[in-house]
Amino acid sequence: MKRTVAIVGSGPGGMYAAQGLLDKDPDCLVDVIERLPSPYGLIRGGVAPDHQKTKRVARAYDRTMGNPRLRYLGNVEVGRDIGVAELLDAYDSVVLAYGAPHDNRLGIPGEGLANVFGSNAFVGWYNGHPDFTDLDPDLDVDAVAVIGVGNVALDVARVLAKTPAEMSVTDLVPHAADPIHASRLTDIYMFGRRGPVEAAFTNVELREMGELEKALPVVDLGHFPETVSAPYMSDRDLRLRQRNVDTMRAFADVDPAGKDKRVHFAFFSSPVELLGSGRVEAVRLERTVVDENGKVSGTGEHFEVACQLAVTCIGSRAEPIDGLPFDERRGIVVNDGGRIAPRLYAVGWLKRGATGTIGTNKNDSLAVVDLVIDDWDGEMRPGRKAADEMLKRRGARVVSFPDWRVIEQIEIDAAPEGAPRRKFVSPEAMLDALAGAAEHV
Ligand SMILES: Cc1cc2nc3c(=O)[nH]c(=O)nc-3n(C[C@H](O)[C@H](O)[C@H](O)COP(=O)(O)OP(=O)(O)OC[C@H]3O[C@@H](n4cnc5c(N)ncnc54)[C@H](O)[C@@H]3O)c2cc1C
Repeated sequence: MKRTVAIVGSGPGGMYAAQGLLDKDPDCLVDVIERLPSPYGLIRGGVAPDHQKTKRVARAYDRTMGNPRLRYLGNVEVGRDIGVAELLDAYDSVVLAYGAPHDNRLGIPGEGLANVFGSNAFVGWYNGHPDFTDLDPDLDVDAVAVIGVGNVALDVARVLAKTPAEMSVTDLVPHAADPIHASRLTDIYMFGRRGPVEAAFTNVELREMGELEKALPVVDLGHFPETVSAPYMSDRDLRLRQRNVDTMRAFADVDPAGKDKRVHFAFFSSPVELLGSGRVEAVRLERTVVDENGKVSGTGEHFEVACQLAVTCIGSRAEPIDGLPFDERRGIVVNDGGRIAPRLYAVGWLKRGATGTIGTNKNDSLAVVDLVIDDWDGEMRPGRKAADEMLKRRGARVVSFPDWRVIEQIEIDAAPEGAPRRKFVSPEAMLDALAGAAEHV
């Protein structure tokens, strides 16, 4: 008997679940359903364009996609082209892995001003995610406020700070490269409510900020303790945070000669309002203090920093599709260790919320695969045939993995010298390229 499983979403959560199922059940058939023609979720649309090494994890996913027991159904959106209930009728199990791509809101006045964006939108824009191709942020600015002090904030600051030469070996899309590199931007502020000890940077990413060709990291040494001590942190966390603090202290020694941009690490600064008439012109902040338990409180001292573009990097949340049970507070689908309902599961950011690295998804997805296998009732459902018929009836233009490889090769062939690819930034452009390639065979 061959079990059939549908996985919804081809990001890391979905791809590790697919590989786990193929490994653990040598008979099962897996369909990976993805709303875009292009696979791999945030690996393509989130991970920074200058972090090509990180994006290389896609090669492992390519090998999973190449398994003859797996089919890729790209350009199929669950909730639009086919419903969750319909998937449950067709397949023996359904694993939802559709991520958490909706920006959290700051909840302060002025958030609706023009040129204020969430990081998913802004990062998606410079990474060529089709949902954000038309975002059109105005880069005719001299200062940017990046609100948040995690790795995504570092990505945003770094992409804005790097020179055209530094970015020439990346797949930053032209619609973002052109305005970023033409910008008169000089100052990038990264605002954190808490201090440098609490900032959730990964040290490798943080160190890069001291190695930028034309941008100087600016720190206030008064914010940095010599020795990190925080009773609420584990020894491991203390070691990691000490390394970050040492890295940031060393930024004060970076030679400013020839640097025409500054990246300000502005800690103990809590945004309370974005100011401007129509478009953002400044951010108003309150100075904060952090107590020995890591609790932050305002001091009542306020100040303003001029900025004409603001990007909030304060995490993201999922949304329910097809009436799935939803935890509004955590922004995830309600699940118990991955189980949502009989034969229906969640993995990745949809399951846990938007935390952790690519690797975090691996063990997490594998644990859910064990549940899928243990829970199976042995009943056979119609499987792929039923899903295919439904998609055909609805006129879906399904992109297979070989189709995607054709599209990808066209992107690679079009790459400027030194760059890995030139991305298509809309599904239509991908489908046209595919049709064009078919005509030439
Ligand atoms: C800006 C940014 C940068 C990051 N950089 C790094 C990094 O450098 N290193 C690192 O380790 N981690 C990084 N991460 C974290 C990493 O990307 C996540 O851990 C991981 O992508 C989560 O995987 P996921 O499968 O849950 O979600 P996603 O990667 O978001 O995948 C979800 C997939 O589901 C698809 N989908 C959505 N809705 C539907 C639907 N209705 N039907 C069908 N398909 C659907 C989406 O198109 C997408 O392909 C970064 C995250 C962000 C936001």
